[in-house]
Amino acid sequence: MAELRDLYQEVILEHSKRPRNYRTLAGTSLSAEGYNPLCGDHFVIYVDVEDGRIRDISFQGSGCAISKASASMMTQAVKGKPTADAEKLFMDFHRVVTGKNNVGVDDLGKLAAFAGVSEFPVRVKCATLAWHALRAALAGEKQAVSTE
Ligand code: ZN
Repeated sequence: MAELRDLYQEVILEHSKRPRNYRTLAGTSLSAEGYNPLCGDHFVIYVDVEDGRIRDISFQGSGCAISKASASMMTQAVKGKPTADAEKLFMDFHRVVTGKNNVGVDDLGKLAAFAGVSEFPVRVKCATLAWHALRAALAGEKQAVSTE
């Protein structure tokens, strides 16, 4: 676990301890479940979209520090944004955490804290789980998203 310590940057730890937007969202029909059987991370993302913009977003569930912090920081990052911007942010985030390249890392803001995840392939699924669930919710998919 020693090498994982480097990965758990302060901002990630802080969000995992005090997740933001950690609640259900009443009155929205858009939600999706994400499950990462490898780690046991399991979250539901709730989204309220109005005129193509994410008016509100929340999540509930449980998982490791990385998955929970990622969900928490994702909700902060996309709240109030057009869904197209959220999609672009996901693409940039995904490229950075999978170590493909760092194009877009400057636009990630605090989410750049997850760049270290690319060195731990198993953890990439933890970091991207909430994002996959968000996409499914926005697409209106009812089936649970699994990383397997
Ligand atoms: Zn995990």
